[in-house]
Amino acid sequence: MTKVAVLGSTNMDLVAYVDRAPERGETVTGREFRTIPGGKGANQAVAAARAGGDVMMIGAVGDDEYGVRMRENLEHSGVDTDLLHTAEGPSGTAHIVVDGKGSNAIVVIPGANGTVTAIGPGEIAAIAEADLLLLQLELPLSAVLEGARAGHAQGVRTILTPSPVQQLPAELLDCVDLLIANEYEAAELSGHAEPHAAAEVLLSQVPALVITLGSKGCLYAARGSQTVHFPAPEVAALDTTGAGDTFVGTLAVALGEGRPVPQAIAWASSAAALCVQKPGASISMPYRSEIDAA
Ligand code: AMP
Repeated sequence: MTKVAVLGSTNMDLVAYVDRAPERGETVTGREFRTIPGGKGANQAVAAARAGGDVMMIGAVGDDEYGVRMRENLEHSGVDTDLLHTAEGPSGTAHIVVDGKGSNAIVVIPGANGTVTAIGPGEIAAIAEADLLLLQLELPLSAVLEGARAGHAQGVRTILTPSPVQQLPAELLDCVDLLIANEYEAAELSGHAEPHAAAEVLLSQVPALVITLGSKGCLYAARGSQTVHFPAPEVAALDTTGAGDTFVGTLAVALGEGRPVPQAIAWASSAAALCVQKPGASISMPYRSEIDAA
């Protein structure tokens, strides 16, 4: 079983579904409200566990009802939460307004995630034991950097999703084995909107990267080899929330099992295509048997 450590965020998504988002100062009546466990870290952990990984989630929830529910949600998918601490105060929340066209506007309040400014010996030991480490940017950068350093020092394959996108210190990039960015993030980091051009620039900073292109699939680029485009399966997309996290979590498991990169990407693309055909993020992530069947 691939051992995956995820150092990342847990957020409760508080989603208001409206026909039209309110203008400044305006109040509108919405259609529906849902609370859905999310956060990029937790979503990647759920995806990896459902894909067959042995997954350890490192981070923090708050000492509120949301924290209890988010922990249960992770455990329900088989994620180990022994290193998911309970911090005093509220859990992280994402306040999301989804309009009738599926466009959204989001306010994230880090809550407990903001308390994870450093990692301790227990977390460092768990990272050292893993085959792969998954990092995103929804925790304080100081903790992400410590995790990356720990992974790199122990030869643990380290995958970074640069979201929410920000300029990255060289000392973090030096610890990354694989960067997985969407088109927007790749453009922001490289200064090039065209993905091939973006990949070329980013390859001077990391040894390998994937740029995901939504329904157009993804590009894989590695130093010393030709950049390859992988198409996505053609499916009727209902809700693309969580597709990127499904791709990352599933790809990590496949790489940890020693599958060659093209096979691993094809498997992760099948998983992400299954995710977009169902509503919600973590609840729409497929299990291994479903990915194999697809
Ligand atoms: P994104 O974060 O939107 O770039 O999507 C991440 C990955 O999810 C893509 O590389 C695809 O593998 C998959 N994906 C996203 N949207 C779709 C879609 N409409 N149809 C099929 N696969 C998709």
